Amino acid sequence: MQDSDRIFTNLHGFHDWRLAGACARGVWSNTRDLIALGRGRIIAEVRDSGLRGRGGAGFSTGMKWGFMPQLGERPHYLVINADEGEPGTCKDRDIMRFDPHRLLEGALCASFAVGAHVCYIYVRGEFVNEAKALQAAIDEAVEARLLGPNACGSGWDLDVYVHRGAGAYICGEESALIESLEGKKGQPRNKPPFPANIGLYACPTIVNNVETIAVVPEILRRGHAWFAGIGREKNTGTKIFCISGHVNAPCNVEDAMGVPLKELIEKHAGGVRGGWDHLLAVIPGGSSTPVLPREICDTVRMDFDSLRAVQSGLGTAGVIVMDKSTDIIAAIARLSAFYKHESCGQCTPCREGTGWLMRVMGRMVAGRAELREIDMLLDVTKEIEGHTICALGEAAAWPVQGLIRHFRPVLEERILQYRKRAA
Ligand code: SF4
Repeated sequence: MQDSDRIFTNLHGFHDWRLAGACARGVWSNTRDLIALGRGRIIAEVRDSGLRGRGGAGFSTGMKWGFMPQLGERPHYLVINADEGEPGTCKDRDIMRFDPHRLLEGALCASFAVGAHVCYIYVRGEFVNEAKALQAAIDEAVEARLLGPNACGSGWDLDVYVHRGAGAYICGEESALIESLEGKKGQPRNKPPFPANIGLYACPTIVNNVETIAVVPEILRRGHAWFAGIGREKNTGTKIFCISGHVNAPCNVEDAMGVPLKELIEKHAGGVRGGWDHLLAVIPGGSSTPVLPREICDTVRMDFDSLRAVQSGLGTAGVIVMDKSTDIIAAIARLSAFYKHESCGQCTPCREGTGWLMRVMGRMVAGRAELREIDMLLDVTKEIEGHTICALGEAAAWPVQGLIRHFRPVLEERILQYRKRAA
């Protein structure tokens, strides 16, 4: 990818994040002209750019906006999901800390496109400094008349509010987030109806991830063909990857969709600790995506479709690298405990299943299990998957499925070793 294609030019916070610095980087440069494109053209540009939601699901953003009903009596809302609770993911917080005006400019363009005069940014409660930076940026933008009545001289009024959550992972799920925003317990709603029809306060609502919204002005400025020309077919544009774990230089980096995983780790994160041959496995898209063994990591590309083809997913692009010093069973067991803790408890397969997975995985770490329980564990993940109100069920099931798919001999060996010791 060319350096000039990078959208997040202050991703690492080396420059001034305030209004003056943001304007110097081209943010807010011609926002009025972008809005003058009109609602239909903006939605068409975003759709034709191929932008897919950066929060994990990867749904077409332009298509999602197109589901909003015509402006009528009910107010429309834009809600920006800045909850970012997926372990291994830390990109949205850096956008809010280091480039908040880029997000706010995106909020204005997107709010206009979906007919919203009010935009809420739902920030994870732990992100204290990020919320402060965001609020300071909003205050600056209002002062400069970039937000508020007749924002940027566009004729469109927009109020932006920061709302801080209380730290529940499930509030990153869009309908739970809406419930929480309404002051209720953050529990996912049954769908349909979808938020585009019945969302916040039962009004049409679009919920988009921070990164998704932040790239919109640049797509409008440079045109959909520019964005669609980066990456691969149906997996277009740039993407922020969060690389953590056993690498020499953990980092956030923006690169083209479809970049090879190996290149991403070696070029940007200083390589695997001890060298590529010391790699055991990678979780490619945040903790809920199935782990990949070294042989797949050698060649796989980082985009939605390539990762799906190897039975994993791009998710939030939180790349967790594990070298051969890792106890892979213990690592996945830790994730099972996390999802058990974060289950909201509404549906039985998730509430009971996540606890069951956690307990059995805990025994598997020690090897205190029967060989037949490996298949039983797999069966239980299949009973959870697809049988719940929201995707937390899958998020709990997939890491265990990935472990059994690629590391069954390690599980078996652990059980046999325990038996030998106990005999
Ligand atoms: Fe709650 Fe889990 Fe059901 Fe989602 S899948 S609604 S987190 S119980």
